[in-house]
This record gives sequence, structure tokens and C-alpha cells, in this order.
Amino acid sequence: MNPYQNNKKNDFFVPEVPKNKGEEKKYTLRFVPNLHNPHHVPIAERHRHYDVGDKSIICPKFSANQSCAICEYIDQQRKQLTEACDVHKISKGDFKRQSPDVPSKIEQIPEINKLWLSYKDLYSKKRGYISLIVRGEESQGVKFWSVGAKLLENIIDRIIAAEGMVDRYRGYDALIKVKNIGKFFNGRPSPEIDFQFDAFGERKAILPGKPPEEIDALIETVKDVSSFAPIPTYEETQAVLNEYLVWFEKKINSSKREPAVA
Ligand SMILES: [Zn+2]
Repeated sequence: MNPYQNNKKNDFFVPEVPKNKGEEKKYTLRFVPNLHNPHHVPIAERHRHYDVGDKSIICPKFSANQSCAICEYIDQQRKQLTEACDVHKISKGDFKRQSPDVPSKIEQIPEINKLWLSYKDLYSKKRGYISLIVRGEESQGVKFWSVGAKLLENIIDRIIAAEGMVDRYRGYDALIKVKNIGKFFNGRPSPEIDFQFDAFGERKAILPGKPPEEIDALIETVKDVSSFAPIPTYEETQAVLNEYLVWFEKKINSSKREPAVA
């Protein structure tokens, strides 16, 4: 029996943000290869369209090089906007407000404003899902850490910079510091996360002192990221887009009916 198969508390590692501003919490992590990923790397990337009205959906185009109705819509709207801007002789600077209270030039041309609003929030954003164990909690098995684009780039750069960082028998642990900096996102504390490999520490196995078979057994439990973040079909993206189009028309029409602010 695989001892790591069934004793998971949960699938995700969510670093705890300390209560008070300025406080830090430290974690030692160890990245674990994911046999479902190309070259068995511990990181799988997904791109997601976050604000498709009140829905969000993974982008098949940027995640898996498959067709995406939302990306097609963005391209189509952008093309139309470019053409409309040529007609109205609009340049890039006309999208910005000169001061917060004065509408920009494009906000004063309903056709152009609507085209711009129709797709500007739809662009997909990248996330990475990293398979890892938390030191001290090895018995809880492998979890996934979901990280945003900026932190992901930082982590990937460091993995590439030093070969063998994530080797299952002779790699390095990673250290993260989670600092409360008094910022919030969607009502939750949004910490600053400092990430580094423990490159001055000793090289060690994922499970130090355990036989290779046990390490292999741990690695075998790592789930395919597609099990919780599957790539949608074109039809699924089309359905979400259709809902969005209805949502967007309602939003535009209701904002028209709002009384002008004196
Ligand atoms: Zn897309």
C-alpha cells in the first residue's frame, strides 16, 4: 500500500498570512516532480480568463494551444476598435483621462467606448500549479501551490538558473517568507512573498533518509493538474462567451440609464 495515497488533509498549500502588518511567516517547501507534466517538471501552467462577466474559465489557447472562443472574440473586437479609431482619428493617448473627473476622448464616443469596454478585461492571465511537500508535514503528502504570473516567473528563473534544483534525491529545499504588507485583494490579505531555493543548504532527497522506493511512491501520488483545472472545449468557452455577451449588453444599457452625476 502506498502510505502517501490517502492521508491528505487537502490538495492545496495556501500559505498563511500573519495577522499584523510587518509580520512574516516562513515555510520550507520541497518541489516534487509531476509525472503528468512534460519532462516531469513540478510546475504546470494554466492561463485563465478571470473576468468574463461573473464567470472565469481556463483559456484553451494559451494553456494548450487549442481554439478559444473568448480569445477569438478579443481579436475580433480589437480589430474593430482599431478600424473605428482610424475613422475617428483616435490615438493611444486618447484612452487616458487627463484628470480623474474628465472623461477621456474615447469615453465621449459611445461606439469606440463600447468596443473597448467589450474586451479590455477579458485577456487571460497566467497561473502556475506547483506540486510540493511542506517540510514538517511530509505525511500529508503532495499538495499544489497556485501562484500568480509574477511569482511564477521568479520561481522558474531560479529553477533554470541552477541545474538539479529539483532533483528528487539531491535537490534543494525552497524557502518562502510570507509577509503581511497591509495590502488586500478581494477582501483578503495579499502578502509579499519572498521565494528562494536553499542553495546554501545541503542537497537532500525529497524524503531524507527514506529509501528511493518510498520517494517514488510519494511521487506517484501527484495528481494531474488537469484533474482540477481541465482544459475546456471550444464549445465550453463559447457558452461562457455567450453568457458574457448578454451580461455585457445589460451592463452597458444600465450604465446609460444612470443619472448624470452633477
Ligand atoms: Zn482564450
